[in-house]
Amino acid sequence: MNLKYDYHNIMNTYSPISIELERGEGPYLWDVEGDKYLDFVAGIAVMNLGHSHPKVVEAVKEQAERLVHVSNLYYIPKQAVIAELICDTSFGEKCFFANSGAEAIEAAIKLARKFGLTKKGEDAIEIITADGSFHGRTMGAMAATAQPKIQSGFGPLTPGFHYVPYGDLQAVEEAVTENTAAIILEPIQGENGIIVPPEYYLPGVREIANTENILLILDEIQTGMGRTGTLFAYEDSGIEPDVMVLAKGLAGGFPMGALVVGKKAADVFTPGDHASTFGGNPFVSAAAAAVITTILEEGILNNCKKVGEYFIEQLKELQKKFDFIKEVRGKGLLIGMELDLKTVKDAKLIVDEMRLEKILINLVQNRILRFTPPLIVNKYHVDEVITSLDDVFSKIV
Ligand SMILES: *Cc1c(COP(=O)(O)O)cnc(C)c1O
Repeated sequence: MNLKYDYHNIMNTYSPISIELERGEGPYLWDVEGDKYLDFVAGIAVMNLGHSHPKVVEAVKEQAERLVHVSNLYYIPKQAVIAELICDTSFGEKCFFANSGAEAIEAAIKLARKFGLTKKGEDAIEIITADGSFHGRTMGAMAATAQPKIQSGFGPLTPGFHYVPYGDLQAVEEAVTENTAAIILEPIQGENGIIVPPEYYLPGVREIANTENILLILDEIQTGMGRTGTLFAYEDSGIEPDVMVLAKGLAGGFPMGALVVGKKAADVFTPGDHASTFGGNPFVSAAAAAVITTILEEGILNNCKKVGEYFIEQLKELQKKFDFIKEVRGKGLLIGMELDLKTVKDAKLIVDEMRLEKILINLVQNRILRFTPPLIVNKYHVDEVITSLDDVFSKIV
């Protein structure tokens, strides 16, 4: 495709695919040449209601005409509405709003340090996170992100982080000291390739956190907002965290992150401890309120569960046919398919071939196809993806 603009003034941090998408509706996107794509990326787990959902469009139109922004120095009713919606549907008691995932993680790190300092002692500022985790790219979030390829070249790292293998309860137990303030985990690791921990893991970590008086912080940035079939992924684990962090799907594509805090740490932040100019402004709060009410009112969670199960079943059928498919895993519509790179030399080719079939999918860790479609897709859309995967896989072996 001939692009209208080149990227010579854009910082070289991405290597974008040269398609120019200009319009979206539901699970579909159109490029400038009029080609229609089925979008199984959805902004990477952002557009959970699909593109231009009428309820979200209506809410932001109405809000933009009325009031886009005022400072948090003033009362923002829409922010109170979205905070109440989140707290009524979760363990949360208090919310702080930021503008992205990493920024909300930064707030969580500050909260954890102050929790340790004020409730345990001045050295109790250490935080445990998991190998392969992803919590964002800013200084604190990057230190929490235990991936050498992300941290390398940007040291010295924010101190106080300790890393343990993901899914390993004993490793958590061994890493905890009297100076541990918190443990930050993803309920399912997203960027690391849809790694689902054993069922006993989160309850086990919960127990350790209780015994040692440390905060269990769940990074639900990718798993939250219905992605795994419940509004928040922790709901299915039988436990509640002390803190959770939201972003991605929270405001339907408008930049918003949230720190959601339960009883154990609800009083840790006091005026002056943290702030954000844009966080939770009337505009994004209106978008988020429309997103969460639509998810709850329109049977989105049930659909996600049902279609997700069907999708995994169908992907497992493909696995029987192609032995380079190592594993199919995931929950709801957060699904990964791990490929054997001994057979599939370059998994990027599969993503490229799928795009030629007018289907957008994504690749993580060079070998795991990741599927994060809008939660409104149905079996028909899944069948389309399966048929194309079958064709593309047949071509490459
Ligand atoms: C995307 C993501 C982040 C970072 O969010 P940004 O908005 O890109 O800063 C953090 N944690 C998880 C689990 C994510 O998926």
